[in-house]
Amino acid sequence: MNIHEHQAKELFADYGVPCQSGKIAATREEIAGALVDFPDTGKIVVKSQIHAGGRGKGTFLDGYKGGVKLASSKKEAAEIAEKMLGNTLVTQQTGPAGRQVQTVYFTEATDIKKEYYLAILLDRATSKPVVIASTEGGMDIEKVAEELPDKIIRTFIDPTIGIQGFQARQIAFALGFEGDQIKQMTKLVMNLYRLFDEKDCAMVEINPLIVTPEGHIMALDAKVSFDDNALFRQPEIRNLRDLNEEDPKEIEASKHGLNYIALDGNIACLVNGAGLAMATMDIIKYFGGSPANFLDVGGSANEEQVTHAFKIILSDPNVKGILVNIFGGIMKCDIIANGIIAAAKSVSIKVPLVVRLEGTNVEMGKKLLQESGLSLVAADSLAEAAEKIVQLASK
Ligand code: GDP
Ligand code: MG
Repeated sequence: MNIHEHQAKELFADYGVPCQSGKIAATREEIAGALVDFPDTGKIVVKSQIHAGGRGKGTFLDGYKGGVKLASSKKEAAEIAEKMLGNTLVTQQTGPAGRQVQTVYFTEATDIKKEYYLAILLDRATSKPVVIASTEGGMDIEKVAEELPDKIIRTFIDPTIGIQGFQARQIAFALGFEGDQIKQMTKLVMNLYRLFDEKDCAMVEINPLIVTPEGHIMALDAKVSFDDNALFRQPEIRNLRDLNEEDPKEIEASKHGLNYIALDGNIACLVNGAGLAMATMDIIKYFGGSPANFLDVGGSANEEQVTHAFKIILSDPNVKGILVNIFGGIMKCDIIANGIIAAAKSVSIKVPLVVRLEGTNVEMGKKLLQESGLSLVAADSLAEAAEKIVQLASK
């Protein structure tokens, strides 16, 4: 789960990670109120709040440039905010459709002496949190990794004992900090790790982390995401969820315990097991098609869940065909067959449907489908199923 920058900065403040304070406005009427406490002179940063990075360099669909802008007065800040609110921002991370800005965030502007990069995330290869730091802040970190790999400092943390003071100090040294800034940086890194650990984060990223002309280190940007599997024990974090930022189909799927991710292809897949779902997407691609989603109905889905799964995949207007690929282990093929039949009764399936069933109760499942009178194509192997659906969907 992702949260907005202004929410992330509140968490930073709670954990003693220095950052600017700010105010938000979600409607035009709220803009004036949000700006009341800002000084009359001095620059204000106006920041579009969407769950995607690269806002500064983004462009709105109406051609207005910049999702993060510097205003030199309150009046100008209000004008910028009015242009951003309700407008759709396209950045490198949003895809061409962009994201509608529902909230703007005002912060007092700070002068920047130098920009750095700092993040903590989970390294899957070592199963450890890793602190990533670089003197090349402000720019695309992927680009730094590609072009200047030596500029990236990785520090692996043993999760059983947490980050050690010497590790945080080594990061400060490696970034070239001296004197009091070593202390500031060490404390900041330790506090950021505490946040990462206690709140079950998947990632915290500060780009840029800055040094002000006065020598203060602070986070100018804040991106925080959480491990969905830990949300059950993080009620305050769960409350920060912004459903406007999520695909309605994914929200619906999560209500029914289905692992669904929307994609931009036209062949919907309904599969049991994440590995088999990945293999199914691969083989659709292999035969020249493009998957409309990832969907794992799980090992123990019931008829009702299968029906919901069908409704969700059919609500995507791009879908031109459906491939059901079930390997009945714990999941029984007859349950899936009944789910398909029940779904066909409550939603009309107007696109071609290819079904491949294998495993527990496969004969029973096939018989149920045959006798249902549903128009579907049966396939025996995964390759045959994929080839058929790609052909049918392209007609
Ligand atoms: P992003 O583009 O989504 O990563 O958003 P950021 O929060 O990183 O802001 C984009 C850029 O705006 C930053 O990299 C800075 O260059 C600039 N910026 C943001 N806040 C300030 C500020 O207080 N002062 C100055 N001078 N620049 C700022
Ligand atoms: Mg940034």
